[in-house]
Amino acid sequence: MKKEITIIGNGFASLFFIQYFLALPFFPFFTGFFRRLYSRYDITLIGNGNFTYFPAIPEFITRKKRTRDVCIDIRPFLRRRNIRFVEGAVTDIRDGGRTVIANGEAYKNDALFIGIGPAFLEDDIPGTKEHTFSPCNGPDEMETFMSRLESMNTGVIYLGFKLNRQDGFAAGRGGQMYECACLLDFALKERRGRDNFEIHFFSPDIEPGETGGITDRMRERGIILDYGYEPAEFVAGGMLDSDGAFRQADLVLYSPGITGSRLVRESCLSVSAGGQIDVDKYGQVKGLSNVFAAGDCASHENPPPWVPHQAHMAQFRSQAAAKNMQAVLKGTAPDRTYRYELSCILNMENDAMWLHMASDNKPPFWNLFPRHSKKLIGVKNMFERLYLFYLRYL
Ligand SMILES: Cc1cc2nc3c(=O)[nH]c(=O)nc-3n(C[C@H](O)[C@H](O)[C@H](O)COP(=O)(O)OP(=O)(O)OC[C@H]3O[C@@H](n4cnc5c(N)ncnc54)[C@H](O)[C@@H]3O)c2cc1C
Repeated sequence: MKKEITIIGNGFASLFFIQYFLALPFFPFFTGFFRRLYSRYDITLIGNGNFTYFPAIPEFITRKKRTRDVCIDIRPFLRRRNIRFVEGAVTDIRDGGRTVIANGEAYKNDALFIGIGPAFLEDDIPGTKEHTFSPCNGPDEMETFMSRLESMNTGVIYLGFKLNRQDGFAAGRGGQMYECACLLDFALKERRGRDNFEIHFFSPDIEPGETGGITDRMRERGIILDYGYEPAEFVAGGMLDSDGAFRQADLVLYSPGITGSRLVRESCLSVSAGGQIDVDKYGQVKGLSNVFAAGDCASHENPPPWVPHQAHMAQFRSQAAAKNMQAVLKGTAPDRTYRYELSCILNMENDAMWLHMASDNKPPFWNLFPRHSKKLIGVKNMFERLYLFYLRYL
């Protein structure tokens, strides 16, 4: 009897999971035929069918990328792998993970992988939903932000982020917001309107005296650093400080701390202190059998405090989860763990930096690339093109 596998979500974590779970990583259309003839697993994926390449979203600000460049219909990728696709949102997980509910139907499995991505602490600062935009909410919201920006000739723009540190790591989107701030500076200079705008950068998670490469890049661009600042409330046209004072902010791009979604809280999954799916170092959901989670929806066991949620980390975690799921389905104990690494290229359009930190001090790509060079923008675009080519055709 073939084992029934259910995968929830079609973001980075789930697609990396599929890559490492199947015997082959690539399936040009003719090899899909062989998987149809022979496979040990019947796999069902439940999701919306639309993959979003989030790392390219900051480039909406320079108009180098639009929605069509970052969204992919993932169904052909799944068809090539003979994976059954169910369009829908999972509303419950029951029976210790063996039953998943979507569109009112129950889907049974022998093993479950959860890659449902993050939810954001939008109630943390009142007015976040009503008065701020976030690149983390996807391309449509970023397009709305850009329409608002392009209708302005002058004004005060605030960008910022907050982290959720309750699980002992940096659950939030710091690097991405720095990138947005530097790209905004570039875009306004291109419009020859930079002098008419004040750009502020705030975060209660950065010490006011913070120094370093990113801070230098922001200072070079005349970005006003409100490190240590947390608004008490976002209101129309600005923000309120804790003493009730009003600060003008004509446009706010803000990323709240990351937590788990309602599905995490309301199903049978174990929940971490920070509201995420509580997993062990093998990616197994604690207290459940044959249930794995990876990516932005899941916490870590004993993480280093600097590690963020990234597509890059989702890859390591999904790889371990895939190998461990194969092990438990064969009746052996899971033994694959994963490295911790922060690695991303900060694209400033007229400059770029490779931000990197690793639990084993390994450099990125054997130090083949410079850490600070405009040429890194080409490297970042190459990674993006390769990954999207893989999803579209292989
Ligand atoms: C602006 C921005 C820039 C970034 N830049 C980088 C970068 O340069 N490098 C990097 O490594 N990372 C970057 N990241 C982070 C990276 O995008 C995330 O870490 C990554 O998307 C996490 O993958 P995931 O699969 O966990 O979540 P997601 O990619 O968010 O995917 C979650 C999936 O689950 C689905 N889903 C959710 N709930 C349900 C449900 N109930 N039922 C069914 N399906 C559901 C969603 O539709 C989606 O398909 C960036 C993020 C943002 C927002």
